[in-house]
Amino acid sequence: MRNQIAAGEVVERPASVVKELVENALDAGATRIEIDLEEGGARLVRVRDDGSGMSVADLELCFAPHATSKLRTSDDLEHIASLGFRGEALASIGSVSRARITTRERGEPVGWRMDDEGGALSGPLEAGAAEGTSVEVRELFFNVPARRRFLKQPATELARCLDVVQRLALAHAGVAFVLTHEGKRVFDVEAGMDLRARVRRAFGAELAASLVPLEAEQAGLRLSGFVAPPRFARGDSSRQMFFLNGRFLRDKLLVRALKEGYRGFLFDSRSPVAFLELALDPARVDVNVHPQKSEVRFREERAIFGCVAHAVREAVKRCDMATPGAQLVDRALAREGFEPNRGLPFSSPEVLAAPARAEARAPLQVFERPGGLAALEPGGLLQVARTYIVRALPEGFEVIDQHALHERITYEALLRDLRAGRCERQRLLVPELVELSRADLVRIVAAREELARAGFELEPFGETTLALQAYPARLERLRAGELVRAIAAALEDGRTLGREQLLESVLQRAACRASVMAGDELELSEMRELLERGRALESDQTCVHGRPTRVRFTLTDLERAFLRTT
Ligand code: ADP
Ligand code: MG
Repeated sequence: MRNQIAAGEVVERPASVVKELVENALDAGATRIEIDLEEGGARLVRVRDDGSGMSVADLELCFAPHATSKLRTSDDLEHIASLGFRGEALASIGSVSRARITTRERGEPVGWRMDDEGGALSGPLEAGAAEGTSVEVRELFFNVPARRRFLKQPATELARCLDVVQRLALAHAGVAFVLTHEGKRVFDVEAGMDLRARVRRAFGAELAASLVPLEAEQAGLRLSGFVAPPRFARGDSSRQMFFLNGRFLRDKLLVRALKEGYRGFLFDSRSPVAFLELALDPARVDVNVHPQKSEVRFREERAIFGCVAHAVREAVKRCDMATPGAQLVDRALAREGFEPNRGLPFSSPEVLAAPARAEARAPLQVFERPGGLAALEPGGLLQVARTYIVRALPEGFEVIDQHALHERITYEALLRDLRAGRCERQRLLVPELVELSRADLVRIVAAREELARAGFELEPFGETTLALQAYPARLERLRAGELVRAIAAALEDGRTLGREQLLESVLQRAACRASVMAGDELELSEMRELLERGRALESDQTCVHGRPTRVRFTLTDLERAFLRTT
């Protein structure tokens, strides 16, 4: 009974069995782990490894509750370096299934096996076995019908098992994994594959090729891994992985640090994709917090947060954030219901209709170089629909969203000034009066000193009116009313933010309101200047809301669009 109760915490479904057994194999030093499943794991989970194997004495004990070979003294709990340490998994699994372990210790002439049928032990018996260990778990929850009923369709359980195996495979380069279901291979990686190659196997070539590596070391923490460009962000966090000393973690602190690293490059509700490995002296983290061992407590939370957020941010800035034209082309082709290479003519009504629609809204603005459009060489520019700038590149062209780019440029400049504590102000001879709700007015007045630090001077002028007296000189296109209302909105939405973050969010909104808008006509010289200034930035590839500033079409993309590829 006691083991069955413990099993409630450790063994929820086949995927938890897979996790515990594979972790045991890893703790045993395996370099190749084979996982075989039947009926999504409900009928059979078998994990075979080429690790150390067990002595017959250890085998006899391993199904007993709290029997672990991984701790010698209670001091060992202070610095746990193995994945297991609670000695609960096999006892729990054995109490709710028909389990059999067959093992042969390295260098021993014979192997042994031991059974646990729902808590009834038998063995050990001598048995033929390869070096290493094989654990078979059949008919999970055969004696706990209430739990068995909770299992989902085999396909769903299989998907969860696959998640677990993929995560463990990502965390353990150097170990080969093979997962089969009903005898068919579902996933595998070879021992020699590194993290990027493993990501490619698990999640595809496009993501793997776009990953940007990061590495950092600070206060005993070694951080390495990859971040993906913001455009890979998802509605869920399933491709956000943290591994601490080889253990997969769900940790709020790390999730927040990652999010902080992407701030300003991502729509807020989206979850960035990243694979981060942390190596930390086991004494500096408590992993004994949760029965499933996926939550931890760091001793130095602030240092870890800072280190992760900073390293992520630096890597994100190095990402290529331009949306590749190939993506758009493929999406358009897929919408049309045919794949590339079929030889059909490309005639997406949407693509064909687009120029006509744009023309109706705003006449196409074409700034020709001497010699006409035909001479649009690399470096040549044209403005389309008073919104986009098209720039010819040596190997294609890119389309730039003028507002998004200007907004990013303005924001970065404001932020630099704020951090350097030197903010040039533009004083208004006649203050601009702006009508606001009382709540907004109160919020702005309360934040008056902070706002002054960023260059905004605002004074109440009656019950529902504010006077804007000065603003940062960087803001090139002042629209006083919009600016003040944007500040009020930032203060309202940012109530839970810290002071610095709140100011940054104010600056983001101000940058948005004071930038070139879609619909503003630009001279050739203005476009040139905008692009020139963008180039000087560390990252000019997304606007402050995380929308891309540019989409790039290479010749390959064009060939794909026109079905010229063979
Ligand atoms: P824990 O992993 O927390 O020690 P488990 O119940 O998972 O507890 O395993 C109990 C013990 O059985 C382990 O401490 C280890 O000695 C032994 N064991 C389990 N699986 C293996 C394996 N694949 N190879 C070698 N020894 C194993
Ligand atoms: Mg274990």
